[in-house]
Amino acid sequence: MSERKKKGRNVVQKWIEDNVTFEGSECLLWPFTFGGNGYGWVQYQGRSANASRVMCRLAHGDPPTEASEALHSCDNKKCVNPNHLRWGTKPENALDAIERGQRVYKPRLSKDQFRQIREMRGAVTQREIARRFGITIAYVSKIQLNSETGKTAG
Ligand SMILES: [Zn+2]
Repeated sequence: MSERKKKGRNVVQKWIEDNVTFEGSECLLWPFTFGGNGYGWVQYQGRSANASRVMCRLAHGDPPTEASEALHSCDNKKCVNPNHLRWGTKPENALDAIERGQRVYKPRLSKDQFRQIREMRGAVTQREIARRFGITIAYVSKIQLNSETGKTAG
């Protein structure tokens, strides 16, 4: 075993790249430094960033919008399991938390949103729509099948 003198060169980067294909279902805890916000901290490609964000980007591609954040399905800030990470926005995350809490939650969607949901029928999976709007798949289905639903909005 020859120990190379590349002092810590991209050990972190290598770890991330090695784990992009991580397939375990358990949380993959960040083994390096954490930032003040409790998230893993990484210097990656010349920038400092949240480790979960870097992992999400490598595993799932660029964030769809500027406001997108790497959301944890497991609520574990220290986790960087790519399977637990996805792009989303904060309000959506809050809704996820509510759904996980198994509370009955029917957000009030605008007429425009009802229309969008119906227009996405066939083009976007119901699962994806449910994620985007923070509603259940069953509710998406109901909206798409029942054109009257829009009348109850607002
Ligand atoms: Zn996790």
